Amino acid sequence: MADSLDALKQKIQAFVDERDWAQFHTPKNLSMAMMVEAAELLEHFQWDTPAESQTLSSEKREQVSHELADTLVYLLRIAQVLGIDIIDAANKKIALNAEKYPVDKARGSRAKYTKYL
Ligand SMILES: [Mg+2]
Repeated sequence: MADSLDALKQKIQAFVDERDWAQFHTPKNLSMAMMVEAAELLEHFQWDTPAESQTLSSEKREQVSHELADTLVYLLRIAQVLGIDIIDAANKKIALNAEKYPVDKARGSRAKYTKYL
């Protein structure tokens, strides 16, 4: 997994370098772009019932995959520009979340952690 993520990051870097787009890739611009792509993802589910959102046509599934990919690429690019190891950051955040949501208190509950502090 780490290898394929590294390969993806290299592909993104090459894509940016070939187009001389690094000059536009400030954390501000990239964060905004990522949220636009996340909103495009959301748009696919906007008026769906919960059940409809779980059963996608093959066409919609492909469109959703494109928006997920757009969002992921921008997320990885933000981490790249800021020199953040996203795998390390995600592992640390999961550990923090595990402390916030201990299994004995959080299992089967959708309550925010502040409810059982
Ligand atoms: Mg898009």
